[in-house]
Amino acid sequence: MVSSGFKAMLLKLGVPEERLSVLEGKGGIVEDEFNGIRYVRFRDSAKGFRRGTVVFENGDVVLGFPHIKRIIHLENGIRRVFKNRTFYVEEKVDGYNVRVVKVRDKILALTRGGFVCPFTTERIPDFVNEEFFRDYPNLVLAGEMAGPESPYIVEGPPYIKEDIQFFLFDIQEKGTGRSLPVEERLGLAEEYGIEHVETFGVYDRSKIDELYELIERLSRERREGIVMKTPDMRRIAKYVTPYANINDVRIGSHIFFDLPHGYFMGRIKRLAFYLAERKVKGEEFDEYARALGKALLRPFVESIHEVASGGEVEEVFTVRVKSISTAHKMVTHFERLGVKIHIEDIEDLKNGYWRITFKRVYPDATREMRELWNGLAF
Ligand code: ATP
Repeated sequence: MVSSGFKAMLLKLGVPEERLSVLEGKGGIVEDEFNGIRYVRFRDSAKGFRRGTVVFENGDVVLGFPHIKRIIHLENGIRRVFKNRTFYVEEKVDGYNVRVVKVRDKILALTRGGFVCPFTTERIPDFVNEEFFRDYPNLVLAGEMAGPESPYIVEGPPYIKEDIQFFLFDIQEKGTGRSLPVEERLGLAEEYGIEHVETFGVYDRSKIDELYELIERLSRERREGIVMKTPDMRRIAKYVTPYANINDVRIGSHIFFDLPHGYFMGRIKRLAFYLAERKVKGEEFDEYARALGKALLRPFVESIHEVASGGEVEEVFTVRVKSISTAHKMVTHFERLGVKIHIEDIEDLKNGYWRITFKRVYPDATREMRELWNGLAF
């Protein structure tokens, strides 16, 4: 349900009345609240309002973070997307997307789906200088939260040894969602001391061999990939390393039944195109084949053993919070996402932080495995 005040505001912002009632009818827009600030989040898109858009009670609009085109064949993809243009190459950091915004006097962190995340909102002042929003209240910082202690992602990048960090990769205007040019973004990151994703320089399609080398290096370093962006941010494309494709399969196969088939298909497809484009043969090819096979099978078989011996398919993760109430808010937040987690352990780190251990159980995957193990026939 959306209150009449919000409805009037959305109409004024240009959402057509018909679309509004359709959206409302099927739960495509939902009204929510965080620490006294009310907002509406778009679960579906509507006329210029991308999925994940958030409209706050004061009229501030933060557009959903846009989809980034994926390139599968690096050389041909670059030719198609960028033609003869130059583009910046940045690291694609493996974490979760957040949009950081100041609404009234509060700095909030929004998830891709348009929720205010209690954990990220509590931690964001550790990484983003508040001065930035004093000077630019109309801008939104988009970045990746990444690290081994994350509520949404099983693993972090190899170079973050503990906790979590924020890496800026886009600055957009409230309302329009327009991105600042790359140079301006880099300048602001530097000026306000905001950590930025690593940039590898400016390339064009004539430098494909250097890009192949970069991808090989990132893959060896167990990093996820690259995002390529024209200086004006109008053309953007992503490409992931063979390492990341295999590693995602490994992480996913632990909860095999909980993921759509497309999760595995997409990653196997990307790896196959990499092997074909780079003409990988012989021993190197065999190594990839072995790595993929192991990634797909080992965690899957381990889960079966776990369930067969009476256990459950589960994941354990830890996060650091400043207040224990934030951990409880995360349990409620996950409930709203339809995910069951519970707090396993609370440890005082004696430095102003608590380390919270959560356990997430996968009831559907567990049930399906148990039934198959017990001989259910189709
Ligand atoms: P979509 O397909 O809609 O882009 P997705 O979640 O399926 O979303 P991903 O493969 O995760 O796509 O890649 C896009 C995400 O990569 C972005 O939403 C962002 O969170 C993350 N990302 C990490 N580093 C960067 C970067 N340097 N520039 C842009 N996005 C980045």
